[in-house]
Amino acid sequence: MSELAGRVALVTGASRGIGAEIARELARGGARVVVGFRSQREAAEAVVAEIAAAGGEAWAVQGDVATAPGCRALVDAALAQGGPHVLVNNAGITDDRLTLQMTDEQFTRVLDTNTTGTFRMSRMALEHMFRSRDPLGSAIVNVVSVSGLKGNRGQANYAASKAAVLAMTRVMAQEMGRRKVRVNAVAPGFVETDMVADVDPRVTEEALRMIPLRRLGHPTDVAPAVRFLAGPGAAWITGQCLVIDGGMTA
Ligand code: NAP
Repeated sequence: MSELAGRVALVTGASRGIGAEIARELARGGARVVVGFRSQREAAEAVVAEIAAAGGEAWAVQGDVATAPGCRALVDAALAQGGPHVLVNNAGITDDRLTLQMTDEQFTRVLDTNTTGTFRMSRMALEHMFRSRDPLGSAIVNVVSVSGLKGNRGQANYAASKAAVLAMTRVMAQEMGRRKVRVNAVAPGFVETDMVADVDPRVTEEALRMIPLRRLGHPTDVAPAVRFLAGPGAAWITGQCLVIDGGMTA
């Protein structure tokens, strides 16, 4: 099924982990994909090569979403291809520390990437999506986290950053619906990527005990949901958050 044929998708943080799989999955759906990255050019180019080998089209584009010029570069790359019709705000970082030890810098650094980055990327993409009056509509999918729904020890910065993005998701959905722009979120649980590679094995074991489906997540568990929310099957869904966590928060 190529339900995204003719669409240009822009995925931030697509060099690795969940974002890389989202880029591959949107390409499988027929989208041409801008593969955003911050520092790992080779990894992003490998994702582009995989998509090309499977018959798709993609471009690796550098841009730090914590900066306005970085966001501009990513959105401009999608504009040059006639998009973006789909924006996936996936780029994200953690910097865990218990609240009493967390510095102001640690707090704001995480919000700069996860929250301000998502806001700026969305505003710049929406300028195009809103004006284009595309009869097929456009979609933004924000990758938040169960940490932003229920809170996690050591993640005052990260949980706040993701809860804020979820709030923005609802606001933008209300503002943009009249122009057929849909804004949704996915909230993954514990997904095996570089982001959680250094987590204490005891924390992993504890997480496993809390997951009814008895395994950690994989990027392939998240990407199909993003593809669904980006596509025509979700034409009447906006302002929602789909939790993908093996049942952990059920
Ligand atoms: P990851 O493996 O650490 O990959 C992070 C990606 O984000 C990389 O592509 C990185 O680019 C990019 N990135 C980081 N800071 C950036 C910036 N300032 N500007 C542009 N790109 C930036 O992370 P992941 O686990 O796949 O996480 C992806 C998203 O899912 C994040 O938003 C994360 O919060 C969310 N999430 C993850 C989990 C989990 O358990 N893994 C759970 C819930 C939610 P470079 O490669 O170029 O550095």
